Amino acid sequence: MLIGAGHAHLRLIHHLRELRCAGATVTVIDPQENLFYSGMMPAVLGGLAAPRAARIPVRSMVEEAGGTFVRDEVVRVDPGARTVETTGARLPWDVASVAVGSRVAPSFPVSWSHGDLPTAKPVSRLPELADRVRRLQAAGVSPRVVVVGGGPSGVEIAGNLVRAAGGIAGAPPTVTVVTRSDRLLAAMPAAAGEHAASSLTRRGVRVLTGRTVTAVRDGIVEFGDGETIPADIPVVATGLRPPEFIRSSGVPTDETGALLVDGTLSVAGQPLFGGGDCISVVGMDLARIGVHAVRENGVLLHNVRAAVVGEAPGSFVRYDPPAEPLLIVNPGDGTGIAVRGTRVSVGRRWLALKLRIDWAFVRSRGRRIMPGFMPPPRRSRSGR
Ligand SMILES: Cc1cc2nc3c(=O)[nH]c(=O)nc-3n(C[C@H](O)[C@H](O)[C@H](O)COP(=O)(O)OP(=O)(O)OC[C@H]3O[C@@H](n4cnc5c(N)ncnc54)[C@H](O)[C@@H]3O)c2cc1C
Repeated sequence: MLIGAGHAHLRLIHHLRELRCAGATVTVIDPQENLFYSGMMPAVLGGLAAPRAARIPVRSMVEEAGGTFVRDEVVRVDPGARTVETTGARLPWDVASVAVGSRVAPSFPVSWSHGDLPTAKPVSRLPELADRVRRLQAAGVSPRVVVVGGGPSGVEIAGNLVRAAGGIAGAPPTVTVVTRSDRLLAAMPAAAGEHAASSLTRRGVRVLTGRTVTAVRDGIVEFGDGETIPADIPVVATGLRPPEFIRSSGVPTDETGALLVDGTLSVAGQPLFGGGDCISVVGMDLARIGVHAVRENGVLLHNVRAAVVGEAPGSFVRYDPPAEPLLIVNPGDGTGIAVRGTRVSVGRRWLALKLRIDWAFVRSRGRRIMPGFMPPPRRSRSGR
């Protein structure tokens, strides 16, 4: 039972036939039939790629390989009874893996009566955001966009909305980025934040640092000191959390509600695995980035297959996270901000590299991972 058909489960989906040959029937549950590759969504927002170019058709991949795709949302996983509950059914499993990603959970009240509040996640909704801005711009209304959150997603969304607006007639949006940190990209070295800030401000984006948002209401964003700024389109890009059902399922979780797993990405003593943004690995402090979700694929494939054929946990392999993963931020000015540990490099070649990696990934439906991107996982030393 694969719960979520996102980045962390792509390899299991590619190797679904092998699981079937090993005697398993495989069910994949996800409310979305297509996965949008998140790394490419800033390029989609900025008009460098069409939304369909970032889409991986997970439902047809599952069905072509002889699995069952259930288009539904899981609301509870019961490891005792070995069942999952969706909004419409209760389904049994012998071995399960949970990779349901994370969602934006603002720490401030939101009242917004214009449909779904625009948020950085799910990324599948980002093209709608771009359309909304485009429609207002084309109608001659200069939309006031306020992006709450100055991390990589906030920078990429703001910068690429501005980039897209450049190619459209009408009244371009005014874009503001708000962060409570004293600079953009606060989790990255200062030079990365400085480049992001100068790239955005050069193109007319207002950057407000050291400001804590306390509420988002229809038409305004409110700060702790009582000041408000107008926002026709607020976009919340802060506070990622795993879906709430994990905590309420009674499985082990950390303080953020993430499924607590050991280095083999399994819940101790259970045939229950997890990967990506919705897990917390004991003894590792992993950021919620796709780099881990993608690299964990190999471990999940190996260990889930081992559990399916009844191998003892001693044969499981362990996740070996990269000490300094390469991250490339696309601020929408034609450059990429490449960060590896404390090193920062900025230039067009980094954006070109990012786009090359992303195109290859999506075109191969997640099968083609850059050489060196996914080393073989380490074999478990201690069993679990
Ligand atoms: C704009 C943006 C750009 C990003 N760019 C990068 C980047 O360049 N590099 C990088 O390393 N990281 C990037 N990230 C982070 C990256 O998106 C995540 O770390 C990655 O998607 C996590 O993969 P996952 O498999 O955990 O979750 P996802 O890929 O999000 O998959 C989760 C799946 O679970 C499904 N699901 C959710 N709830 C349920 C439920 N209740 N029942 C069943 N299914 C459910 C969802 O529909 C989804 O298909 C970016 C994030 C954003 C927002």
